[in-house]
Amino acid sequence: MIPDARGLPRASPHPVSKRMHMSPSTTDPRSAKAVVELKGVVKRFASFTALRQMDLTIREGEFFTMLGASGCGKTTTLRLIAGFELPTEGQILIAGQDVSDVPAHLRPVHTVFQNYALFPHLSVLDNVAFPLKVHRVAKPERMERARAALDLVQMGNFADRRPSQLSGGQQQRVALARALVNEPRVLLLDEPLGALDLKLRKEMQAELKAMQRRLGITFIFVTHDQEEALTMSDRIALMKGGEIIQLDTPSGLYDRPASAYVADFIGETNMVPARILSSDAQGTMVEAMGGQLRVAGSFDQPAGTEVKLAFRPERVGEAVSETDNSVEGRLADIEFIGTDLRMTHHMADGSRIVLRRQNSGLAVPDLGEIRKLSFRPKDLRIFGL
Ligand code: ATP
Repeated sequence: MIPDARGLPRASPHPVSKRMHMSPSTTDPRSAKAVVELKGVVKRFASFTALRQMDLTIREGEFFTMLGASGCGKTTTLRLIAGFELPTEGQILIAGQDVSDVPAHLRPVHTVFQNYALFPHLSVLDNVAFPLKVHRVAKPERMERARAALDLVQMGNFADRRPSQLSGGQQQRVALARALVNEPRVLLLDEPLGALDLKLRKEMQAELKAMQRRLGITFIFVTHDQEEALTMSDRIALMKGGEIIQLDTPSGLYDRPASAYVADFIGETNMVPARILSSDAQGTMVEAMGGQLRVAGSFDQPAGTEVKLAFRPERVGEAVSETDNSVEGRLADIEFIGTDLRMTHHMADGSRIVLRRQNSGLAVPDLGEIRKLSFRPKDLRIFGL
């Protein structure tokens, strides 16, 4: 990277064809250095606070996702990094430098939008070459780099078409090529797959992820689709009401949700009422679903406290011995969903829980049967009310 006039690192002037076929980055994003930092960032629109006191470090080469329900502030965060909005308070650093007074088009980032934003009157090749024209790259180099970027997204054969002659997925690939042609340090992607049908979306997820690994560019991705976030990301910031409520790896969010909201937002969760019976360093005993269960870890509240007990449907076992940590439930419904079976049970305390098991061809129990359902203490989580 060479510094530009403001001392900001910017992309190398080498043709994309030479740089974009480099071998995969060997840097582990977990130990890489910070590339985007938000320090105490607050964003208010008139009297409405869209972001509250956000502190965030995104590392070089990371696939970082902002996930959350509509209106939680994901796009606002992305727009602040891009420079389309300015923070009301706080500081944004890119590659260690405060970019507060650097306009959007001079920041070493590029944004890919859901609606592609391609120029309809330009060919695919000219669309991709456009950012280089803005930066006054000479025509032969511009075309060479644009062709290389199109090859990268497997659109080399479509260079002469107009955007209107492409499918949605193809237009999104062109938008990606245009974003990559300038070799940004950070690629900002705002629901880039939102307009695609499910099958194409899945294909593009895999392609995007592979491309990110290959190029080693930091991707900051915005989505409200939790499955998409879990599949693609190195880390996910789960946002709610203008705040990050948990920042973690996909497995951390899924297996160790920090709150009932996170457990409920990510994946399917059974959440039943429970009461603390005792708790010490060895574990916690709760009364739930008409029985008693052992939960790993201590819970810092006195016996008698009402809580919520949470667990994933695929972590409910079908008990085999008396020593299992188990409760009884009546099988009320079985749903076939191809690879899996979802079995709904009615419990003695009136709660309903779902057990999910692979559709492996084993015998299926009869509806109405009373069954023992077992739990590993570490698969149960307790949340305050
Ligand atoms: P979605 O998934 O629906 O795009 P989001 O998480 O990206 O949602 P933002 O677009 O960041 O949400 O918006 C966060 C909040 O800030 C919303 O309540 C929104 O109405 C508000 N907001 C965003 N931009 C503006 C603006 N220019 N003026 C006033 N309020 C705004």
